[in-house]
This record gives sequence, C-alpha cells and structure tokens, in this order.
Amino acid sequence: MATQRDYYDILGVPRGAADEEIKRSFRKLAQQWHPDVNTSQEADARFKEINEAYQVLSDPQRRQAYDMFGHAAAGAGGAGGFDPFGQGAGGFQGFGDIFDAFFGGAAGGGRRPRVPTGSDLRYDIEVTFAESITGVEKEIEFTSLVKCETCSGSGAEPGTTPATCPKCNGTGELRTARQTMLGQIVNVVPCDRCQGTGKVVETPCHTCKGDGRVERKRKLRVTIPAGIDDNHQIRLSGEGEGAPRGGVPGNLYVVVHVTPHPQLRRRDTELYYGLELSITQAALGARVKVPTADGEEEIEIKAGTQAGSEIRLRGKGVPHLRRSGSRGDLHVMVDVRIPTRLNAKQRELLEQLAVELGEVEPEDAETEGAEGASAAQTARRSGRRRNRKRGISDRLRDAIS
Ligand SMILES: [Zn+2]
Ligand SMILES: [Zn+2]
Repeated sequence: MATQRDYYDILGVPRGAADEEIKRSFRKLAQQWHPDVNTSQEADARFKEINEAYQVLSDPQRRQAYDMFGHAAAGAGGAGGFDPFGQGAGGFQGFGDIFDAFFGGAAGGGRRPRVPTGSDLRYDIEVTFAESITGVEKEIEFTSLVKCETCSGSGAEPGTTPATCPKCNGTGELRTARQTMLGQIVNVVPCDRCQGTGKVVETPCHTCKGDGRVERKRKLRVTIPAGIDDNHQIRLSGEGEGAPRGGVPGNLYVVVHVTPHPQLRRRDTELYYGLELSITQAALGARVKVPTADGEEEIEIKAGTQAGSEIRLRGKGVPHLRRSGSRGDLHVMVDVRIPTRLNAKQRELLEQLAVELGEVEPEDAETEGAEGASAAQTARRSGRRRNRKRGISDRLRDAIS
C-alpha cells in the first residue's frame, strides 16, 4: 500500500455513487476478499484497503473532505495512518469485527461459544371470575427436565471434566466457504459435535447419560394477582426447562384462563351489566339487586329512569393490575321491558293511564273494548273532560293517518 489508490476505484463505484451503492459494493468485495476465505497472498492487503475506502466513503463528512482534498484530508495518509476501528495504528485485529457489523456476527471468529438454554414451558391454568378479582395463589404440578444432581448439570461423570471439543477446537462453530456468483460466502453454523458449547463430555454421567438434565415432577406456587384477565401470561423466569450441560434454564409461562361471569361482561377494568326494568320500576323508581365484582348489591333506581341510561357504580369494577387499591367501575346499562302479554285488568289500567296522560282518544278505546269495561270507560270519559291537551293528540293522530 505504498501508493494510495482512489477510494472510489477500490470499491468500484463512480464518484457520485449513492450510499446504498457504496454499501452494496463494499459487502460484495468484503465477502470476496475476506482473508478467512480468500487464500491468495494479496487478500489481506486488499481486504484492508476495501475497508479503509469504505470507512471514508460511508461517512458523509469524511467523504466530502476526501472528495475535496484527497487522502490527506480524509485522515488516511498512508499505511497504518488510518485506523478504521480505533484500535491504534496497525491495530487491525479481527476480520470478524467487520463481519459482525455487517452480517450479524456470522463470521465472528468463534470468540463466544454459545451457552445452551432450556426451552420455555407453558402451563395453562383456570381461575374463577371471583378469583380474578381477588387474586389467588395456585399450586401447579408439571413434569420438566431439571439439573442432574449427580453431575451438577455438567453431564460429566463425577471426577471427570468435559473436554474441549475436537471438531471445533472449543469455538462452538463450524465454518464452510462456498463459491457463489457473488464471490465466496462464509457459512457459520453451531458445531454439531458439541451443540455449539465448545465442550464435549468424554465420560458421561451415569444418571443423565451426559445431558446434564433429568426428568422430574415439579410443584410450584403461582401467585395470580388481583385483576388478572383472560389470556394474561405470568412469566416465571428460569422456571422453564433446564438447559443441557449446565446452561441457562428457560422460562415458565403460566397462561391464565378466567371463567366468565354469567351476567357481567368485562373490558379491561370496567364491568358491564345489562339491567332490565319494568315500565313501572322505571317510572316510579325501585330498589333492585345487581351483580357486582364482589357479589350482589342492592341499588336505588330513581323514578323516571330512561331506557338506554347508565348507572355507574364507582369502584365496583376490576382492580387495576399495576395500581394497587385502584379499581374500575361497574356500568349498569338500563333497558326497560315493555310488557307483551297483558291480562284484561292490566290492559285496562294501562289504558286508563294512557287517557290520563292524554295520549289516547276515549272513543278509540271504546270501540275496541267491547267487554263492557264500564269502570274504565267512565274513567276515560272523565279523563277526556279533564284533558287539556286533547288538541295536541288530535293533531298528532291526523298527522300520522
Ligand atoms: Zn448427570
Ligand atoms: Zn464443537
């Protein structure tokens, strides 16, 4: 690298190339010249050069300076003068670093053998509506793989220790290079011999046969908080399946199913109840029982309550999961039931009421009521006499017919 090649030439892009084009070209060249896969003599130097060019051209400020003043301005005065990784002059350490940045660590040099992890487990649990309101503690029992006590999870027979994996030399990774149209591509997979752990058990534990785990029945107490809703999950960290050979155990997810209340509907912390009132209850007022989160309660219905109105019972809903002491409301949604089958007496009373309210012409009622309901008729007549609003109902009837 005694002579400085033009950075654009190195990356094979025109001067005005877009950032995307520069990145694309860099990736392609980096794969092609990576010294791990390219065994030619010049690979190392070329790869370094490609990186240097990219470090400058991918940085808008440096690129601008380079465009104007050349290499000196871009801070790349010569071999070793420019260190793309901040590791000191000539401190170009791991080629893997570049791959880490661009290819998700695919060629990371095997510095970190993977730690085996256990699977997550799921346990479904049923709670009643009342339990979901108050919270409850439940004992659950399940079978799971747990750490083997004989070998403390290492998988090696007591007195022996796991050896470095001969297939991957303890790196936990296997690399293969493959020629493609775009150049060589390095493929890195976890070592199949040691499952990526970098260690192999030569004398397996007699209890667990080298796995480090044994199957056991487990019992756990799960605290289900007040306010839990259907399909909520409770995560118990590290209570899942044990990991092979002493790794990190998985999590246990307890999925809660709440048996619905027969009359109350829930939305978050709010509860809804559909209350049906008779016409007299709605008109005259009444005391009625309604279900709440904590059981039945008697509430006051005011005279003249309308269908479609809502009575809100504050704090009678579901407890907030995260704000203790705070609860949602119970919304009583009022509907008024209109009677559909009336006996003679009831009909008579309603007709009297209709006349009393000035809603009906006594003559109309008379032609229908042939059963000689004399008391009612008398009432109608008197109602007619007293009815000051008759004119309005006349006009209404005319308008409808
Ligand atoms: Zn064991
Ligand atoms: Zn291995």
